[in-house]
Amino acid sequence: MSDYVLEVKKLKKIYGLRTQNEFEALHNIDFQVKLGEFICIMGPSGSGKSTFINNISTIDMPTSGLVYINGVEIRTMSSNEIGKFRYQNLGFIFQDFNLLDTHTLYENIAMPLSLAKVKSKDISKRVQAIAESMNIEHLLSKYPRECSGGQKQRAAICRALIGNPKIIIADEPTGNLDSINSQELLSILKQLNEEQKVTIIMVSHDAMIASYSSRLIYIKDGIIEETLVRGQLSQEEYFQKIIELNSKEYQRVLKDKC
Ligand code: ADP
Repeated sequence: MSDYVLEVKKLKKIYGLRTQNEFEALHNIDFQVKLGEFICIMGPSGSGKSTFINNISTIDMPTSGLVYINGVEIRTMSSNEIGKFRYQNLGFIFQDFNLLDTHTLYENIAMPLSLAKVKSKDISKRVQAIAESMNIEHLLSKYPRECSGGQKQRAAICRALIGNPKIIIADEPTGNLDSINSQELLSILKQLNEEQKVTIIMVSHDAMIASYSSRLIYIKDGIIEETLVRGQLSQEEYFQKIIELNSKEYQRVLKDKC
């Protein structure tokens, strides 16, 4: 039995396969994550971060290579099995929350369970419980447009957590939030990570947010170009290292322009 909650072997993603626009976005990436790690993925725009996160989390399928989530290789499952597997193993938080405007918060939060055909009585219990834990139980019959950004964020977190996933995948989760709501989201993620050993894999371009991680991978041109491990560093020291890593890229861009 492997130690890893996520193991990626020679992951390759080619867009537009066998067309004139064939483009290899990820080149044979090897990557492993242990239970309870908090990983941040950084890198310049267009470097492959979203492609990577989508292909390691069943949202998209790699062109080649292997992706094991909690020991199961994702391509050994049928699409029906993947639906159930996804809600039992993975929770997703996206930049724009991805709540459906035509559905109430209740329906949005229940979505992963509804898709996995969990009984409606069980769904109801679980939605109530998770909404109470995030203090939005009084908003369950409201539509996203009737809620504030912070309330929508809490609903999105409820939806991500409804299946008690052991891995949370977050793509620029604080991208559309003000600093108070960003801090709140980070503290919820940190608490889940530290107290419940939930593994977090998050894309962010913000060095401050990244400094909450335990390991940072820097993706450039479809490969993992560098890795930083926080280890015994204080958060401030780690933050400085992250700034240095990113400033190398800014310097390169400036040099190319001049
Ligand atoms: P990032 O998240 O780092 O900004 P992406 O993963 O979105 O980068 O994109 C990586 C590269 O793959 C970019 O060059 C982008 O144009 C290309 N790409 C992304 N999605 C598609 C797609 N659906 N079809 C073709 N090319 C794509």
